[in-house]
Amino acid sequence: MTTYEGVIGLEVHAELETESKMFCSCAVVDSTSATPNTHVCPVCLGMPGVLPVINRQAIEFGLMVGLALNCEIPEFSQFARKSYFYPDLPKGYQISQYEFPLAINGWLEIDLPDGSTKRVHIRRAHLEEDAGKLTHEGDHSLVDLNRAGVPLLEIVSEADIHTADEAEAYARKLRAILRYLGVNSGDMSKGVLRMEPNISVRPVGSDELRTRTEIKNLNSIRSVTRGSAYEIERQSAVYESGGTVQQATMGWDEARQLTVVQRYKETAEDYRYFPEPDLPVLNVSREWVEEMRANLPELPDAKRDRFISEYGLSRYDASVLVAERAVAEYYEAALNAGGDPKQVANYITGDVFRQMNTEGRDRDDIGVIKLTPTALAALVTLVQNGTINHNIAKKLLEALYAEGGDPVQLVERQGLAQVSDTDVLSQAVAAVLDEHPDEVTRYLGGEEKLIKFLMGMVMRAMRGKADAQIVQGLLVEQLDARRT
Ligand SMILES: [Zn+2]
Repeated sequence: MTTYEGVIGLEVHAELETESKMFCSCAVVDSTSATPNTHVCPVCLGMPGVLPVINRQAIEFGLMVGLALNCEIPEFSQFARKSYFYPDLPKGYQISQYEFPLAINGWLEIDLPDGSTKRVHIRRAHLEEDAGKLTHEGDHSLVDLNRAGVPLLEIVSEADIHTADEAEAYARKLRAILRYLGVNSGDMSKGVLRMEPNISVRPVGSDELRTRTEIKNLNSIRSVTRGSAYEIERQSAVYESGGTVQQATMGWDEARQLTVVQRYKETAEDYRYFPEPDLPVLNVSREWVEEMRANLPELPDAKRDRFISEYGLSRYDASVLVAERAVAEYYEAALNAGGDPKQVANYITGDVFRQMNTEGRDRDDIGVIKLTPTALAALVTLVQNGTINHNIAKKLLEALYAEGGDPVQLVERQGLAQVSDTDVLSQAVAAVLDEHPDEVTRYLGGEEKLIKFLMGMVMRAMRGKADAQIVQGLLVEQLDARRT
């Protein structure tokens, strides 16, 4: 049996969240909720005799992405007509970029599950316009052109990706960067970010390139992972049984978790690309590029490295916190409110994420949960200064997550403060030892693990509020005193 590896390149289509469309002044709106065909004009409807105008903000968003992906920005780029017919494309052609894209030759560092990193090279990123949206109902189809002409950035990786895990890591990182830049919401279920892996396989160790298939329009990162894994396995089995893989465009069947052939692919020539005669060549001055570079926000990798050096976090914790911009912001807001960096990190990646999972919330929703960064910081401080113990903190966090509020007030109102008074605790310990003579005898006879049971009894008697360290010390002391 031959062992095969995947050879995967990813094409990603990201709608740019500009004010207006790529070549006209119509507003860019949420195409899943706006009334159909209410944000259209002669330009995006493809009426004869109209002229497109390039949207400067779309170019700037494209430059930001190109720079964030370590791309070269050529001094000029050019729009091109890509001709094809489809009912959601009234002009009969799409304005795209072909020979001279906005950005080329970049790379993206991905983080793999085993803790290693890898560079995936970016071939190009080019601007184009989105098509409209078709809805099929029974024996007829409806077209909504609100989306026609919305700026789209197509980001094409080299075929550097070899496993489904790598494809997932790439998809996640790219999505995070787009969100950090504020150019795309990353909401794949709404279709504003679509991913298309093209996949072939080859025997491990060879560098040949075999026939590839493409999975179209994946609308979740999970389907990128599953679809890639499925195609690698399917194609390996085809070769293993002596067959050949046919070049094809596939779809991902979410319900059955498998790929299905949609059509056999056209070649580039079919689109009859040529330079768009209605638009000038786009000159991108070096000053403009440097201005855009200077305005880039801190990106995930840089933020991760800063969290490690500034807050002493582990690489793993830092990576988890920066994976979503909203989480990183929540974390730093809690630190600004006085929380200890490591403890706040532990609570977020532990209890807070657990609560959010239970509620079915995405991590990027962290900005709207009822437990505010300030409340989390206060909770952490209450634990650190010994006012409450860990058990109470856990319960308090659940209450704050559900209802919000100020932990300091809650502790006072509900009398949750930890009991550290040695006299009180000493009496409780003595009472428990008196009530459990058998266990005391067995402990003194060598069954030392029984101290945990006795500890539990004292904590129960104190309704969970005892200072565990003091109780532990008192228990050992009083048990020793009962040796005869
Ligand atoms: Zn328009």
